[in-house]
Amino acid sequence: MVNETNIYTVITGASSGIGYETAKAFASCGKNVIIIARRKEKLAKLKKEILEKYPSVKVIVKATDLTKSKNVYQLYDELKSYQLETWVNNAGFGNYGSVAEQSLEKVESMIHLNIEALTLFSTLFVHDYKDIEGTQLINVSSCGGYTIVPTAVTYCATKFYVSTFTEGLARELNSSNAKMQAKVLAPAATKTEFGKIANDVTEYDYDKLFGTYHTSEQMADFLMQLYNSDKVVGAVNRETFEFKMFAPLFDYAGNSSHNQKL
Ligand code: NAP
Repeated sequence: MVNETNIYTVITGASSGIGYETAKAFASCGKNVIIIARRKEKLAKLKKEILEKYPSVKVIVKATDLTKSKNVYQLYDELKSYQLETWVNNAGFGNYGSVAEQSLEKVESMIHLNIEALTLFSTLFVHDYKDIEGTQLINVSSCGGYTIVPTAVTYCATKFYVSTFTEGLARELNSSNAKMQAKVLAPAATKTEFGKIANDVTEYDYDKLFGTYHTSEQMADFLMQLYNSDKVVGAVNRETFEFKMFAPLFDYAGNSSHNQKL
């Protein structure tokens, strides 16, 4: 018999922004959390904040760099002693600039984090938990994972990957009657550390440079709405900033007679 108190929600990229608020939102629902990012001190601050407000919630801190696939596998192995219920792949970053001028080093790290780590964690989690009732995988994409944004082409391409991979996985889980649900969250501009990192600057003024944006608290609230729904996609409209939930949005060749015959 599984001890309810040993069931956890995993959140990557929990040291700031959307991930930080998402960890608090799950804790406020009484969920134990495993919080992951590189900056230990920020994770320790989050842990303290959660424990002050919700003393019965368990918080496990894991500090690691997820751009390295060996760290991804090692971390997943370390989590084998916990029963997991929800996995939120939120860690990610962007880059503003033309393809001609982008830093190969930054792009390589972005692909490792936004695509590789997310795919490895998703696959490991689905492999171990797909037949367990109540389990969910939530992958954080972007509006840029459904629309190409000028000067952010490579970042958008990584997020198109996140959206198509997760929508496809949701369909695969559904058609095989698996118990796990896979979902995509697609935020628009959200005031976090994202702007600084995407532009390689130390100060970034969302009021000047975006005008309209959500706060991390609002995005975490949208994520919880998606978590509590049966929909696959939760997306912010880039023009109106409305949050809506949908069935998968990409074309799907589910019934095509031209698919490989098994
Ligand atoms: P953020 O404040 O910069 O948070 C990013 C998180 O990812 C941090 O906790 C960061 O922690 C972690 N992270 C970065 N590199 C990492 C690495 N190598 N290993 C482990 N963790 C790493 O930005 P955010 O806006 O909350 O971003 C969360 C997600 O939302 C991202 O996937 C982003 O693409 C997506 N998104 C954001 C926006 C927006 O406008 N903010 C819009 C659409 C989508 P450490 O630095 O401590 O490692």
